[in-house]
Amino acid sequence: MGVHRNEQPERHLVEGPDMSLIEENALKSRPEVAALPAYNAGITASVARRVSGRQDVAALASNENPYGVSPAVTAALSGIDPSRYSDSAASTLRHALSDKLGVGIERITCGNGSEELIAALSRAYLQKGDVVLTVSPSFGLHEIEPMAAGARVVKVPMTDKLEFNIDALEEQLARRPKIVFISSPSNPVGVALALAELERLLDATLPGTLFVLDEAYFELIDSDYPDGLRVLQNRTGLSWVVLRTFSKAYGLAGLRVGYGVASDAGIARAMRSTLTPFNVNSVAQAAATAALQDEEWMQNVTARIKADRVILTERLRKMGVRVVPSQTNFLFLDLGKDAATVAKALLQKGIIVKPWMEANYTNFLRVSIGTAKDNDRFAQELELLLALT
Ligand SMILES: *Cc1c(COP(=O)(O)O)cnc(C)c1O
Repeated sequence: MGVHRNEQPERHLVEGPDMSLIEENALKSRPEVAALPAYNAGITASVARRVSGRQDVAALASNENPYGVSPAVTAALSGIDPSRYSDSAASTLRHALSDKLGVGIERITCGNGSEELIAALSRAYLQKGDVVLTVSPSFGLHEIEPMAAGARVVKVPMTDKLEFNIDALEEQLARRPKIVFISSPSNPVGVALALAELERLLDATLPGTLFVLDEAYFELIDSDYPDGLRVLQNRTGLSWVVLRTFSKAYGLAGLRVGYGVASDAGIARAMRSTLTPFNVNSVAQAAATAALQDEEWMQNVTARIKADRVILTERLRKMGVRVVPSQTNFLFLDLGKDAATVAKALLQKGIIVKPWMEANYTNFLRVSIGTAKDNDRFAQELELLLALT
C-alpha cells in the first residue's frame, strides 16, 4: 500500500507550500535572537576566485596562519579513527595544557574554538537584564553571545588614539557588570594592554563581576607586554577566565579548538555544563595536542609574522596611511574613506580583506599579515587604489 502512495506525490509537495500560510504561522524566535547582529565573517577564497577570476587569492581577512601547520600536526592527523567518538573530557589535550601552563586540569575547558567558550560563559552566567561590559570596536562575539543570552551590552569606545580607555572602563567596572569581555591584544584594533593598564582594570573589578581576558593573539605579542594568565594567577579573590586558541599562531583555524583557563574549578564546571558532550572533535584534539609538542614551529612562524608586521606597518605609513600599532597578526588601517568600497576593489584583484562594519569605524580596514608576497601585493594594490580615488 505504501508503495502506491509513494508513486503519487501529494499535491502540496509538487506545488510547494502556501507562503501566506507560512508567514501567518511562522515560529517567532526569542526577541533577543531576532535582534542579533550578524557575525561579519571573511569572504572565502573560492568566492574571491570567482569574483576576481584569479587563482592566486591573497586571503587576508580572517587572521589565519599563512604558513599552515606544524608537520607534527599533519603526522598526527593520519592516526585518527573517525568511527570513534572523541574524548568528551579532552583529557590528553587538557593534560598537555595543564603541563604547559602550570594550571590544574580541573580549571581548563576546551572548546570548539575559543568562541564556543564565549557562548558557554554567556549561557552559564547571564540572564535577562544583566549587563556585560566590552569595548568598541570589538570582536563581534563579545557582543553577540551576551545579547543572545538576554544581556545588555555596554561598549566603551577606544580613545581617539585607539588605545583602551582605562578611565572609562574603570567607571563602568564600578557598576559591577556581570561579565567584562576584553580582547588583549584587541581584535580588531591590534593594541594590547600594558601591564599597568591591565592591573588598573583588575583593581577596578569588584566581586560579582567575571573578568574574561580573551588572549586569542597572545603568542604574537612583543616581549614588553604581559602574559595575562600569569598576571591573573597572582590575583586572589577575583573571578576570571583567560581564553586562548589554536586558530591563530598554531594554524588550526579550520579544526576549531581553543581553551579557557578559569580562576577556579567551579567556573570551569559551569562552562562545561553548557557545552555539548563531544564539543571538540577527535581530529581537533589530536591536532592541538601535536601542535603543543612542536612549540618551535609556532615560535618560528610567529617570529616571521611579527617581523613582517613591522615591515608592512612601515610601508603603509610611508604611503600616508594611518596604521594602528599592532601586537597581533593583522593591522587596523584608517583609510580616511569608506573601507567597504576599497575592500570591494581589492577583491576584484584577488585580495580579501575585512572592512570594519561597526558604527564610527567604517573607514577602517583590517588586514591580516600574510606571506611577504601577499603583503607586498596588498600594499601595491592599495597604493594604486588610494592614488586613484
Ligand atoms: C579569532 C578570535 C577568537 C576565536 O578563535 P576560535 O578559537 O577560532 O574560535 C576569539 N577571540 C578573538 C578576539 C579572536 O580574534
